[in-house]
Amino acid sequence: MSRNIGIPGVNPPTSNEECHDKFCPFHGTTRIRGKIMKGTIVSKKSKNSVIIRQDYVQFIKKYQRYERRNSRLACHLPECLRHDIEVGNLVVVGESRKISKTKAFIVLDKVHSTEVA
Ligand SMILES: [Zn+2]
Repeated sequence: MSRNIGIPGVNPPTSNEECHDKFCPFHGTTRIRGKIMKGTIVSKKSKNSVIIRQDYVQFIKKYQRYERRNSRLACHLPECLRHDIEVGNLVVVGESRKISKTKAFIVLDKVHSTEVA
């Protein structure tokens, strides 16, 4: 069983595997509060974390043009989402309490290509 985390548009994980991750918002004790963001997975090398990348444009006044920028963010990847999420996927992440020195966000769900306008 997974808990309803109360965020619209986020579906709880469907895998039947047991999840013992205490930082999993669906099966553990960590709650999601604060910001909800989207990003693309660029790295899945570490054991419990992923790196997401967000691209955005910044207006530069001097040149009256936009420049492309990006930022990278380390996020926790719960045990039950480990098999579903691959590099290149667009995911929804939610802010939680600080999990480690670099992590304060948890991956919640994959954004399916049909949902992207
Ligand atoms: Zn879980």
